[in-house]
Amino acid sequence: MSSSGTVQIIGAGLAGSEAAWQIARRGHRVDLFEMRPVRTTAAHRTADFAELVCSNTFKSDSLDTATGLLKEEMRRCDSLILRVADATRIPAGTALAVDRERFATEVTRALESQPLIQIHRQEVEVIPKQGIVIVATGPLVSESLSSDIARFTGRGYLYFFDAVSPIVEADSIDLSKVFRASRYGKGDEDYLNCPMDEPTYERFVDAILAGSTAPRHEFDTTGFFEGCLPIEEMARRGRDTLRFGPLKPVGLVDPRTGKRPHAVVQLRQDNAAAEHFNIVGFQNSLRWGEQERIFRMIPGLEQASFVRLGMIHRNSYINAPAILMSTFQARKRSDLFFAGQVSGVEGYLESAASGLMAGINATRLAEGQPAVSFPPTTALGCLGRYISAADVKDYQPTNMAFGLLPPLAIPVRDKRARREVLVRRALDDLGTFRGTLDPIAAPR
Ligand SMILES: Cc1cc2nc3c(=O)[nH]c(=O)nc-3n(C[C@H](O)[C@H](O)[C@H](O)COP(=O)(O)OP(=O)(O)OC[C@H]3O[C@@H](n4cnc5c(N)ncnc54)[C@H](O)[C@@H]3O)c2cc1C
Repeated sequence: MSSSGTVQIIGAGLAGSEAAWQIARRGHRVDLFEMRPVRTTAAHRTADFAELVCSNTFKSDSLDTATGLLKEEMRRCDSLILRVADATRIPAGTALAVDRERFATEVTRALESQPLIQIHRQEVEVIPKQGIVIVATGPLVSESLSSDIARFTGRGYLYFFDAVSPIVEADSIDLSKVFRASRYGKGDEDYLNCPMDEPTYERFVDAILAGSTAPRHEFDTTGFFEGCLPIEEMARRGRDTLRFGPLKPVGLVDPRTGKRPHAVVQLRQDNAAAEHFNIVGFQNSLRWGEQERIFRMIPGLEQASFVRLGMIHRNSYINAPAILMSTFQARKRSDLFFAGQVSGVEGYLESAASGLMAGINATRLAEGQPAVSFPPTTALGCLGRYISAADVKDYQPTNMAFGLLPPLAIPVRDKRARREVLVRRALDDLGTFRGTLDPIAAPR
């Protein structure tokens, strides 16, 4: 399919476009395969590269946020996606929002005008057997390639659906209203339990039943798995269904009353630094504003600050820690990379970030050099670490969050001050790392 030394990239979305750019700017040839407009997906509307299928924002651009840090690191690595996003920016407070049409048009133009990038408007049906390959097909990968990916990973390691529970920031939980305990006292006191009395539970069920849900896309109508029903669907099945499901109180005693509560919402620690807790079993399709309003009815979460809200949608992604190394290479085939949403990251920005790392490493391979992991203390590096080292058993794609960064050697209690130190550490370590990487990427 390709001459030797040429990197083949499947998919010109956020990840594939960024990867192609990183490779070509280092002087290497790319064969970039994009199936649109010959074949399209249920979410894309145009033939442009890097089309934003839903919102037009890359989230906060402020350096005191995790996504702000990731953006700054990508800018320092000359990211095409960030360069074009900055050039097509529209007003949106501290968020980096773009004019979506101009954004995709400009990314397409930048890649089309790169002489080292050969564009092929065709569907790739199987993973090329030879050469350096980056699979960047996104969450809506075409059917035949999806079957081939499943053959490569093993059926149990490619997922088709995402049922995501909301995550809240630990320091926004009112600890005076919750208690630590594991069900039946098994294990350490790993969970924070939000107890509900009967009237609170009844009001909560009413609110869920009345809550408005997000419209389901045509590709999301294949029915739910019984194992991960959305909470609003459970509530519809009967007023006590939730009390026998994720809100079951059995095996839990509130130490303040000495009694078992009527219902209990459990919060489970979600990252090593214990900055985030997820609301166990709360996957749902409620609108985001509704989720914030309704979940703040849970005792202890009245002031909750949400890191992520719940959702259920079609999303093909691999069980990354079982398949990938932190370089985004497949463990069992080092010249095969996965990048973007299919590699187990979540979001436009994170997809582009993984494309950037896969692109740099594909170039290194083409030059006969070993692939490198970005420092785990950087936003880029901690994404690589997450996809390769997270728990295989219950793998969930991730957005960038401060909780993914390793804790500081000397803890800083104040949240704002802590973030400042984390950001400084990340940018310093990235600077040192880039100095060792290649001449193009010398620190600016
Ligand atoms: C409906 C929906 C809404 C989303 N909304 C948001 C949001 O608002 N904000 C956010 O941050 N994230 C969102 N995401 C998640 C994710 O960030 C985006 O899907 C993002 O576009 C992923 O980037 P990517 O490069 O991995 O995939 P994509 O941008 O989807 O790019 C993959 C490309 O591969 C092509 N392709 C697929 N199969 C083949 C094949 N066999 N051969 C050749 N080409 C192929 C596709 O046509 C596509 O152009 C959403 C996802 C979905 C499904």
